[in-house]
Amino acid sequence: MKFHIATIPGDGIGPDIVEQTLLVLKKIGEKFGHTFTFTETLAGGIAIDQVGEPLPQETLTICKNSDAVLLGAVGGPKWDTLPGDQRPEKALLGLRGELGLFANLRPALLYEPLKEACTLRSDLVEGGLDLMVVRELTGGIYFGERGRRQGKYGEEAYDTEAYSKPEVERIARVAFEIALKRNKRVTSVDKANILESSRLWRAVVEEVAQDYPEVELNHLYVDNAAMQLVRNPKQFDVLVTTNMFGDILSDEASMITGSIGMLPSASLGKNSLGMYEPIHGSAPDIAGQDKANPLATILSGAMMLRHSFQLEEEARAIESAVIKVLEQGYRTGDIMSVGMKQVGTTEMGQLVQENL
Ligand code: NAD
Repeated sequence: MKFHIATIPGDGIGPDIVEQTLLVLKKIGEKFGHTFTFTETLAGGIAIDQVGEPLPQETLTICKNSDAVLLGAVGGPKWDTLPGDQRPEKALLGLRGELGLFANLRPALLYEPLKEACTLRSDLVEGGLDLMVVRELTGGIYFGERGRRQGKYGEEAYDTEAYSKPEVERIARVAFEIALKRNKRVTSVDKANILESSRLWRAVVEEVAQDYPEVELNHLYVDNAAMQLVRNPKQFDVLVTTNMFGDILSDEASMITGSIGMLPSASLGKNSLGMYEPIHGSAPDIAGQDKANPLATILSGAMMLRHSFQLEEEARAIESAVIKVLEQGYRTGDIMSVGMKQVGTTEMGQLVQENL
């Protein structure tokens, strides 16, 4: 099969980690008989420097004409003093909005060889941890009506949480479909004891669940979900929730694994075009030093194969190669521990290719 991928290396460590991921994808292409072609394009600080804006129209056009987008990271101290709407990070919101990416998938996976990095007691994650947070990405309070007004006590500010039935339905379907490919359990997180928007959320999720009788559904209030994540994270398979609750819970879930350089993400829309990126930022402190861990981006490549191209076997091949490299004791600086062999970005990428 043939796939065309738009690549956005971005800033800081972005170019290094994307380069290693492209080499891994090329190797997968050779091994499984697929052709991946790549068009590199600009976004973030580098785009500001070269063409004067963080998300040029040409970048959007290239992304829209591709089968998937692979992004490194954007941002850095050089652009920190720019006003909010001109900053490199503006490119991320623009890409999500323009590509209609309403579902954000953030797996929190604790790899057995890295279990010491986990911030929880070892008995709580015995046998590993593997959960998926599905966050609604283009609705809710981050996009609702907001403003300032004069209230009873003078100036006040407000933000509004609003969800429509179709918005909830489409994100719930994403969660149930993913659960079908995993352990067939969905936990929907809301605040239905207080918020009207959550009551609609819960009712719609219940309705969608009727179409997935093989998937077990339960509901948790967000405060309880935050507690359960650190009390007993292994109870979860797929968590589905709103934009703001998902923002908070997905960070909590990923930090449990303790390894920011290991965690991928996917943002999906209604067709197969998705955007794939590591959850970490551009790490300006180690940029250009061959120190960055490329594994989160390489694993984002695996998510691309699974979710945009339906290449499950190929996705698993990358994930198993990453586990093998870790089992062989190779570590980049961020996940280094006593007795392991420290390697740089390029060598880590090569090791994954060799283990494919
Ligand atoms: P960061 O994730 O870039 O770095 C936090 C720490 O983790 C740093 O010490 C860094 O060296 C380390 N780190 C991150 N990724 C690593 C990797 N792959 N290998 C080894 N170590 C790694 O977060 P930050 O320092 O808060 O932000 C730096 C810049 O990145 C800022 O401009 C921020 O706005 C931007 N940012 C971009 C994205 C994105 O592009 N999606 C996300 C978050 C932050």
